[in-house]
Amino acid sequence: EGTVVFDNVNFSYDPRNQALKNLSFTIPKGKTVALVGPSGGGKSTILRLLFRFYDVNSGSISIDGQDIRSVTQESLRRNIGVVPQDTVLFNDTVFYNIHYGNVNAPEEEVFKAAQAAQIHDRTLTFPDGYKTRVGERGLRLSGGEKQRVAIARTILKNPPIILLDEATSALDTTTERQIQKALSQMTADRTTLVIAHRLSTIVNADLILCIKDGQVVEQGTHEELIRLA
Ligand code: ADP
Ligand code: ADP
Repeated sequence: EGTVVFDNVNFSYDPRNQALKNLSFTIPKGKTVALVGPSGGGKSTILRLLFRFYDVNSGSISIDGQDIRSVTQESLRRNIGVVPQDTVLFNDTVFYNIHYGNVNAPEEEVFKAAQAAQIHDRTLTFPDGYKTRVGERGLRLSGGEKQRVAIARTILKNPPIILLDEATSALDTTTERQIQKALSQMTADRTTLVIAHRLSTIVNADLILCIKDGQVVEQGTHEELIRLA
């Protein structure tokens, strides 16, 4: 589960400016794929189309051979976990906020997900020392911390595909790298991970797609792209 194919996709928000142009690529199931390239290139748009926030103008997007326009929104939501840019949290503990929506998940899984999102130890302490204990109320977190809670929540949901838009991330580069590494280790071959990133240096991707002016201008592994440069 989790092979994503873009076939000749065209999309524009406004007719004078085509955001994606005859875009075709394949993301193999279970792989970590990085979408990189200049701002305005089309990375976020690709993620929005994949989640059917918008529909393609022409061409098609399929998951495991099925056109995403032919599956229900509900099934799409179950199959794709999106880490939003701006997460609104409940005024409750970090634990509750991660657990929310996955109420059947055992406590152990919540802590595992938290750890993968770089939220350490059982008291769910953030590295800067502000403790949000299990049971403690009144959550006040920075933008980057909220993003990590959102990542942990998505990991806990365990969908076949996870979309991570770091194009305008609140995370610092070191934390981003740690989370990417933890994510790809934790999800191993089970989860297709699509990361949109403003930088061209993503270490843990199996495949890097360089997106510019709505097209794939380069693709390959990290090593292949370095050789080309
Ligand atoms: P990236 O994620 O690589 O920075 P985007 O997908 O956000 O690129 O943008 C691709 C193109 O679509 C750009 O020309 C951008 O200006 C345009 N665009 C993005 N979002 C919108 C929007 N909501 N309304 C109109 N145009 C948009
Ligand atoms: P940013 O401006 O980067 O979004 P904040 O200034 O809001 O971040 O928060 C910085 C740090 O202070 C965070 O680790 C946050 O958890 C902590 N913090 C924010 N509000 C409180 C509070 N009322 N009591 C204790 N720690 C807090």
